[in-house]
Amino acid sequence: MEYIKENLREVRENIANAAKRAGRDPNEITLVAVSKTFPAEFVTAAAEQGVNDFGENKVSELIAKQDAVQSGVKWHLIGHLQTNKVKKVIGKTCLIHSLDSFRLAEEINRVSSAQNIVTSCLIEINIAEEPQKYGVSPKDAENFAAECARLSNVRIKGLMCVAPAAQIGELNRKYFAQMRKIFVDIKAKNVDNVDMTFLSFGMSGDYECAVEEGANIVRVGSAVFGRRNYQKE
Ligand SMILES: *Cc1c(COP(=O)(O)O)cnc(C)c1O
Repeated sequence: MEYIKENLREVRENIANAAKRAGRDPNEITLVAVSKTFPAEFVTAAAEQGVNDFGENKVSELIAKQDAVQSGVKWHLIGHLQTNKVKKVIGKTCLIHSLDSFRLAEEINRVSSAQNIVTSCLIEINIAEEPQKYGVSPKDAENFAAECARLSNVRIKGLMCVAPAAQIGELNRKYFAQMRKIFVDIKAKNVDNVDMTFLSFGMSGDYECAVEEGANIVRVGSAVFGRRNYQKE
């Protein structure tokens, strides 16, 4: 798995260069290595290279890998979360990136409250308003954040999006800029119990552009671990 080391070196260098171009400190950007479909050994190999944050899009896979990896890494849930899976994942993830409905927020609140914990969440924004995608519409983001703020065991920590699949990262730049604007607008409202700390966007094809546009979490899978094989699913 020597190539993971080489890939990581390259991804980190690209992040640092993109940050520099934007006049940002590369240390304020967290690389979440998206390990979905890859076995636990790949996570261990990346952890040995200093990666602390891993992303999974399915609850069952997150839990299985967490149990298999014997190190203190953090797990991010980045995929759509069904309400009936909430009780399985609460307490096992540092950040849910995919809060996309109030019904889900209420369930996260209920289960978190029962465990006496507060669960950190990002609001997923359907930034290009694609009909097939999950997420809150950009125009509803602010109201949604204010509604979630009333739930004492849910903590809104920022925004996330999955931009349209772009072969050229540059094509997503305008969506990233819109995300940043929504983020800044909500932040300026200073809503109690809402922190605008994290902006999570940018994947293998567009993370450099994402960093230039203000992301402080990028979720990179194939550029770190290689091409995914979905056949086993
Ligand atoms: C798979 C996935 C990623 C990573 O995708 P790559 O193109 O492999 O970097 C990022 N975010 C989400 C929500 C994903 O499901």
